[in-house]
Amino acid sequence: MKEIKHFINGEFVGSASGKTFANINPATNQQLGIVHEAGKAEVDQAVAAANAALKGPWGKMPVAERMAILHKVADGINARFDEFLEAECLDTGKPKSLASHIDIPRGAANFKVFADLFKNVPTESFMLDTPDGKGALNYAIRKPKGVIAVISPWNLPLLLMTWKVGPALACGNTVVVKPSEETPRTTTLLGEVMNAAGVPKGVYNVIHGFGPNSAGEFLTTHPDINGITFTGETRTGAAIVKASADHIRHVSFELGGKNPAVVFADCDMDKAIEGTLRSVFANCGQVCLGTERVYVERPIFNEFLSRLTEAAEGMQLGAWDDACTSMGPLISKEHQQKVLSYYAKAIEEGANLITGGGVPEMPGALAEGNWVQPTIWTGLPETATVVKEEIFGPCCHVQPFDSEDEVVAWANDTKYGLAAAVWTENTSRAHRVAAQLDAGIVWVNSWFLRDLRTPFGGMKHSGIGREGGVHSLEFYTELKNVCVKL
Ligand code: NAD
Repeated sequence: MKEIKHFINGEFVGSASGKTFANINPATNQQLGIVHEAGKAEVDQAVAAANAALKGPWGKMPVAERMAILHKVADGINARFDEFLEAECLDTGKPKSLASHIDIPRGAANFKVFADLFKNVPTESFMLDTPDGKGALNYAIRKPKGVIAVISPWNLPLLLMTWKVGPALACGNTVVVKPSEETPRTTTLLGEVMNAAGVPKGVYNVIHGFGPNSAGEFLTTHPDINGITFTGETRTGAAIVKASADHIRHVSFELGGKNPAVVFADCDMDKAIEGTLRSVFANCGQVCLGTERVYVERPIFNEFLSRLTEAAEGMQLGAWDDACTSMGPLISKEHQQKVLSYYAKAIEEGANLITGGGVPEMPGALAEGNWVQPTIWTGLPETATVVKEEIFGPCCHVQPFDSEDEVVAWANDTKYGLAAAVWTENTSRAHRVAAQLDAGIVWVNSWFLRDLRTPFGGMKHSGIGREGGVHSLEFYTELKNVCVKL
């Protein structure tokens, strides 16, 4: 059985308390390992190591050397690609066809892209007139923010963690990472890669545990961290803001969503079906940017629904290492129960069940896993629970619409504002509708196409702040002005 330890100051260490919890395979619910649970002592050690590294070799390292090391980290992940792939798939149950295209390569790319991006970003400078006629020169410089607490979720563990750690380290910060208790493996394995790449001790630290009254809370309330970057549920974000309020610090939050897809009658139907199939069902619906509300213009509603249903029914549920598998299980029994309770609620509130709605029969050891069927409903009012709340499962409600104004109003009638997809071949309409949707990212005729130079984040209850490209600099650095009287 694998033993998963903390990574503090360049070393793998167990918990002083001896407390551990189980590492479970969601496809079978078999225990694969034990994970050490950090107490306050380990969190203190990790934060102290991160502070020491800031003052030590990392803080003093020339930028070019720092960026070269981050390239080595990316190369190190790619060199151990199969180990990362297996670790990620065992923790999440996701098919290797998905993780080998998205999670691992994008996880590695996060180190290279941000290292390359930040090297050449200028700051501003102003000449000021003064009464003596000699003037003053103002120029801005960026300093690392300090020790960044990174709290990450289980749905894309390596990708979403490195999307924070990459820019944080590129800006010269040090980090203490608390991965989700469900998915501790790849974050831990990255410690080995950091050491091999020559990252100084204490720059990258990992502590394991849960949220409240555990590693997550001990880290976010720690007085010696300088910023918190968090990806997870909206209500966890609210708890972190409250718990950390005493120490006044910057937060960057990427939270939940209830994302619409708007399919116009003038869309390319093949593209819209392929994209919506992915946006609803990829990663078993456990993608923050995924679609749970599909609005289809009435003339093509029946054709769209029957083609999406046929495609959903063709999804292959199975083991991560089976090349035919297109969908894995949900992350945990608890999450399976949550998703199934929404499946029941939809029926209670009068939905037409088009496909799915239950638990599939799975062979052998997989019978014990957290499986649910890909599910599609129609016929609910916009006020129904499954149209309003984030489910985070492989399901959607499909609703016909008659006008652009009507669909924009429905799409925006949510407390969330993370992502949206628009399917149309009419360029003017695409721009017009995209501009009106309250979402941090709007895709036109695509989904999950990400350019790391662009701003990313959510409106309303979907987040605070933007990361990506130069926008990451706003969170991961302190911008200060130097005023020189000439
Ligand atoms: P979660 O909020 O349950 O957990 C996320 C992390 O927070 C975990 O590491 C957890 O241990 C930690 N945590 C929980 N309570 C805490 C507390 N009180 N103090 C400190 N840390 C605490 O989220 P999840 O279930 O892992 O992930 C799914 C959610 O994440 C969904 O709502 C999804 O929409 C959201 N998400 C958002 C984005 C985005 O970019 N906006 C990306 C991925 C996931």
